[in-house]
Formats: sequence, C-alpha cells, structure tokens
Amino acid sequence: MNKVIIIGSGCAGLTAAIYTARADLKPIVLDGYEPGGQLALTTLVENFPGFPDGILGPEFIERTRKQAQRFGTEFRSGAVTSVDLSQRPFQVVAGKETYESEALIVAAGASARMLGIESEKLLLGYGVSTCATCDGYFFRDREILVVGGGDTAMEEATFLTKFAKRVTIVHRRNEFRATKIMLDRARANEKINFMTPYAVEEVHNVGNKAVEAVQVRNLETKQLSTLNVEGVFVAIGHDPNTKVFQGKLAMDEAGYITTHDGPKTSVEGVFAAGDAQDHRYRQAITAAGSGCMAAMEAEKFLTEHKS
Ligand code: NAP
Repeated sequence: MNKVIIIGSGCAGLTAAIYTARADLKPIVLDGYEPGGQLALTTLVENFPGFPDGILGPEFIERTRKQAQRFGTEFRSGAVTSVDLSQRPFQVVAGKETYESEALIVAAGASARMLGIESEKLLLGYGVSTCATCDGYFFRDREILVVGGGDTAMEEATFLTKFAKRVTIVHRRNEFRATKIMLDRARANEKINFMTPYAVEEVHNVGNKAVEAVQVRNLETKQLSTLNVEGVFVAIGHDPNTKVFQGKLAMDEAGYITTHDGPKTSVEGVFAAGDAQDHRYRQAITAAGSGCMAAMEAEKFLTEHKS
C-alpha cells in the first residue's frame, strides 16, 4: 500500500514528487510513455527562473528527477492502462503491476499533435517547435512557418511576428477553424501571409540538424513547392493524456481534467497537475507550481484521512 502515486514524470509530476518525498510520503512516480514530458523533447529553456543562461530541457528534467530521488522518490516504468477510483485505496494498473494508493496525483501531461512526418520528429528542438512562447525568441529576423488553422495557430503566428521577419501560416483547408477575431487579427498583421490549402510534406535538412526549407503541396493543384524557412511551428492542437480517466474524473470536452480549489478533481483524494488539467498556460513554471499545489493538498488529505 502506497501513500501517494504520481502519474507522469514531467515538470508537474517531478515537482509533486519533490514535495511529497520531502513530506515523507514515499511517492512512487509512474513514468508513462513520455518520461520527462514535453521538456524532455525540447532544447534550450530560457524562461524558467533561476537559470540566467538557460538550461537544456532534458538536463533540467534529469536534475529535477535527481532532486526527487534524493528525498526518496521511487520511479517505475510502464504506462498506466487502467485505474479504479471508485473506492480507496485507489488502484492503478501500469505495465504488469497493480498499485494501490491512498492518494493519487495525475500529472500525465498533454502531447502536442504532430504532423507525423519523420523529418519533423528528427528536427524537433532543432528548428521544429510546438511552443511559440518557449522558442519564438530564437527566431529573430528569421522566416518561419506555422502549421494549423485553429486559434492556436493564429495566436502563435501573431506572437511570432514580434521576432520573425515573416510568418507563413500553412493550413490544409481554405476554411479556418479559428475564431473570427483571432483570424482577423492574423490577417491584419502585415508580417503574416497565408497559404491554403497546403500540406507540409517534408522538412529539410535533417543532415545538418537545422531547418533550412520546407516542402509543401497544394492540395488542389497537387503541385509541390519549397519554402525557405528556418523555423516550423506545428500548431495543430494538443491531446491531454487522460484517456484512462475518462468517465472516472470530470473533464472538459477536450479531455482536460477539471479541477477546483486548486488541484482537486471530482474524486476526493485524486489531484491533478500540469498540462493534463491546463490547456491555457502549458509552461514549465506553471506545471511546477501546480505540481507543488497537488503535493501539498495530497499531504493535507492524507493527514485528514489517516487510516
Ligand atoms: P483546433 O481548434 O483543434 O485546431 C487545430 C487545427 O490544426 C485545425 O485547423 C486542423 O485542421 C489542423 N490540423 C489538425 N491536425 C492536422 C494535421 N494532421 N495536419 C494539418 N493540420 C492539422 O486546436 P487549437 O487551435 O489548438 O485550439 C484548441 C482549443 O483551444 C480551441 O477551442 C480554441 O478556440 C482554443 N484556443 C483559444 C485561444 C484563445 O482564445 N486565445 C488560443 C488557443 C486555443 P482542420 O481545421 O482542417 O481540422
């Protein structure tokens, strides 16, 4: 029997681990499909306070993980395949193991949707990004491509014009999913131009570990063209990693866990932190903050429900 299990080992999960471990709750962290979360997939992080020269995402995660281990956190591999939250102790099945726990912190994160092209994957962090707030600064006076036709694409493109020489929004349809106000704002921005209906087919140059050009196809004429850009922002949405909690925890229609009074979920004793419950901020620092809140509430809950 465990006091607390933390699902997810990104910034939120690791912060929750540091706090619960220091409170002597002997947390177990279940790593999941993407150990380290989104930060493990990025390069330089320049906006986390305390690192004046920035820090590489994977290094940041490694250091935070060690910090959690130092206070007694145990890490287990294996993605969670089912949970029973109908009674306490809660049950969590991950890999071949079934865990029981008095309290649960869900910090399973959200994954950025990707186009599914091999070169996009290989250049992630090397010119391909899924976060303008995180990486826009690196693209001063560069030509950038933003992929997507929703509000995120419009917002990211508009934000990126602060730095970029020019931003091209590539969208697969002539109609946009974005709200009128966001679309109008992007259209009114003279640094932004639109290409529709186009699909990204290839990102070059994997050999040089840098984005140098992108091949796009006009979906009506089928014609291929090459755009000389140095950055590609994939802004086609995110999916919260919350499928196993469907029907068990209250969620919004996109699958983000609904929280109240900080990190509390619809089930007493289950807390949520990080991107699994936040589609708005999605930052390392906000994830860390919510992980801390979840840990403190879990500790309070366990004190009040001592068996
Ligand atoms: P979204 O509304 O689901 O839009 C995703 C866009 O990406 C769509 O245009 C979609 O094309 C395109 N797309 C999806 N998969 C693709 C693929 N494989 N290849 C090429 N294109 C692909 O997602 P979102 O823009 O992230 O917005 C999510 C929610 O957050 C929305 O409710 C939005 O209003 C909200 N949001 C609000 C704000 C704000 O108000 N400030 C900012 C950001 C997000 P199709 O249209 O062809 O399907």
